[in-house]
Amino acid sequence: MSVTDTDLPSDWPCEWSEGTIPFVFDFFSVNPKRLRSLVRKGHEFLQKRSCLTFIEHNPVLMAQQLNTTYLYYTYSGVLESCCLHYYFKPVGRRMILITPTCTLPPEVAHVTLHGMGLDHRKREPFQESRVRAALFPTYCSNIEGKVENFGKL
Ligand SMILES: [Zn+2]
Repeated sequence: MSVTDTDLPSDWPCEWSEGTIPFVFDFFSVNPKRLRSLVRKGHEFLQKRSCLTFIEHNPVLMAQQLNTTYLYYTYSGVLESCCLHYYFKPVGRRMILITPTCTLPPEVAHVTLHGMGLDHRKREPFQESRVRAALFPTYCSNIEGKVENFGKL
């Protein structure tokens, strides 16, 4: 497996290169229990296929850290597309919108990749080399098995 740095999104935060991705939940989200359970399953799906570890943080404390980039999950009950890039600033909070149209673990994994800076053309999947770069920014134990799972995406 060869991954070049250029395969990573241009706004990839260097502190993510150890494979640890901080995230928070929106405290004021509607249906916080559902949000939590959907996101947990999406993260488990990704963690089986990557060298990434998603670590939950306190949203209030995270907002005070000016130079930290983290994923911010919120839930909307409106039937809107979640297959979108919802953040504009590369540093800081990156919003990820979970909606009833994307609740399966692979779908939550997909929108998480958008939040991590990946993009694709309309109705096309992500470019495989780019997904690989983002999912394996570092080496981890059982990487062979994880790459094998990745192939089953
Ligand atoms: Zn998408």
